[in-house]
Amino acid sequence: MPTLDDGKTEELHRDLLSLQQEIWRLLRLTSAGVRPVDLDEPIGRLTRMDSLQMQSLAKASRQGLEVKRRQVQAALEAMAKGEYGICRRCEGPIGFRRLKVRPETPFCLSCQEALEAEH
Ligand SMILES: [Zn+2]
Repeated sequence: MPTLDDGKTEELHRDLLSLQQEIWRLLRLTSAGVRPVDLDEPIGRLTRMDSLQMQSLAKASRQGLEVKRRQVQAALEAMAKGEYGICRRCEGPIGFRRLKVRPETPFCLSCQEALEAEH
């Protein structure tokens, strides 16, 4: 039971591919910034704290990108199997308007909200 017509699936497929390109680009950019802080380096206390903070920020955004990258990958695989647009939790349709905003999302809006409320 397809929840999206071919035209919409095609449009979201293009969205997913450009999102994937963008994530790869950002991952390449941020990888240059993630260097381990050398604690033996003779730098002031404040500078050291700053660079530790920068490092954890870069790491956090990389982790976010990694999660997104995997979601995009899973969405493309689901599309290939004809299962795209179906919520992984309740198996209901996610809906085109939500997919247009977040084409990589594996959940419908109410499941997403329920999952976020659990955390
Ligand atoms: Zn759901």
